[in-house]
Amino acid sequence: MRWLTAVGSLHLPHRPAWTCRRCGLPYPCPTARDRLVAVYGRTPALAEQASDLLYEAVPELAGVPPADLFDRFIAWTASGGRAGPAGG
Ligand SMILES: [Zn+2]
Repeated sequence: MRWLTAVGSLHLPHRPAWTCRRCGLPYPCPTARDRLVAVYGRTPALAEQASDLLYEAVPELAGVPPADLFDRFIAWTASGGRAGPAGG
């Protein structure tokens, strides 16, 4: 999975809760987002990676409202969106 290669071995999702294994934040955590932006830039490829992740997460996060899932997995990939603070 290209996503995991880009993020590295630390900030990965703990499934099925979809929290970060490293920092415990909802996944993708700010550090994972920063690393993906660094690899892909704010390009369609970034959104494609995020969409793949969302596709995997949806069945496991069935109780989470769709709007929240969109914000969490997709909205941040848009140009001018918040990349989140660097850290971790
Ligand atoms: Zn993390």
